[in-house]
Amino acid sequence: MSDPLDEYRRKRDGSRTPEPVPEGPTAIDGDDSLYVIQEHHASQLHWDVRFERGGVLVSWAVPLGLPVLPETARLAVHTEDHPREYATFEGEIPAGEYGAGVMTIWDTGTYETLHWNDHMVEVVLHGARISGRYAFVNRHDEDSPGWLVRRIDPAPDGWTGLPGFVPPARTRPGRMAGTRTENEWAYSFDWGGLRAQARVQGGRVTLHDRDGVDVSGRYHEVKALGATLGSTELLLDGELLVFDQGRPSAAGLHRRAHASPAQAKRLVGRFPVVYVIYDVLHHEGRSCLGLPYRQRRELLGSLGLEGPNWTVPEDYTGDGPAVLAAATEHGLPGVVRKRLDGEYRPDGDDWIAVPADG
Ligand code: MN
Repeated sequence: MSDPLDEYRRKRDGSRTPEPVPEGPTAIDGDDSLYVIQEHHASQLHWDVRFERGGVLVSWAVPLGLPVLPETARLAVHTEDHPREYATFEGEIPAGEYGAGVMTIWDTGTYETLHWNDHMVEVVLHGARISGRYAFVNRHDEDSPGWLVRRIDPAPDGWTGLPGFVPPARTRPGRMAGTRTENEWAYSFDWGGLRAQARVQGGRVTLHDRDGVDVSGRYHEVKALGATLGSTELLLDGELLVFDQGRPSAAGLHRRAHASPAQAKRLVGRFPVVYVIYDVLHHEGRSCLGLPYRQRRELLGSLGLEGPNWTVPEDYTGDGPAVLAAATEHGLPGVVRKRLDGEYRPDGDDWIAVPADG
């Protein structure tokens, strides 16, 4: 008689992977109440959703993770049954082995079964991060195999969907603030880059230019930001820049901005872009647009967004003239002063660009 773990064992060599590879037949005990969701940084980031059932973990790989909003259906690929011991597995599957990459437990808890057959699985999850009713529906479609998973319950209290695009805050040309109002402003460098909004969901990044045009295909090196954020939903505002010997290179940026997606891939080595992030517009189901700038910056600073192709540069409160002098010295276009109490508005007067001297 075949064992439900035959396929699992066939794909793995217990001497090469730290994953549990139990020998012998599966013992059918346990009370079929445990679930686990593992974040798996394999060649493609995905979340493995596993339910204890009949002595094994019945598993789906969900590329974008479980949706939080009920209107969203996401692909779920049914994968081989895993041993029950896998529910506590975290570790790195070595390069060359099946599923190579880092696996961590994203959530675990208990579940109730409402329906369970080959066409539909409906469950209620009671976890630390997820709670609510979910349905997995088998599409039975040979052209697009797989299941769809959707949330049946309403979104958790207060959770709002991540916008596709928000009109960027306008920056108006102007002068330095007078000393009387100096402490109402933050100062950041004006980088002279290409305005870009990054939408991060399910570990995937979409970049939009200031007009809302999707330019993701041109800037592949920014995509890795998604995996570092895991399941965190974010909308970020910033600029794309190419640096040459520490200074923004208009020529390099021009090359990248006008490259076709195929050319862009070849230009990554010579003219890598850096996404300079200076604001956060939406975070984990909450809009940040109504928060004062100082609070948005505090949140942005807490997100740990530093990587090879993205950064959150410091901004400075007070002493605008010194920041402007530094911008001039570094050959930057100038500074942008931002009202500390200002909300994020496309038509506001809270962001003033002040040109460098000379
Ligand atoms: Mn996996």
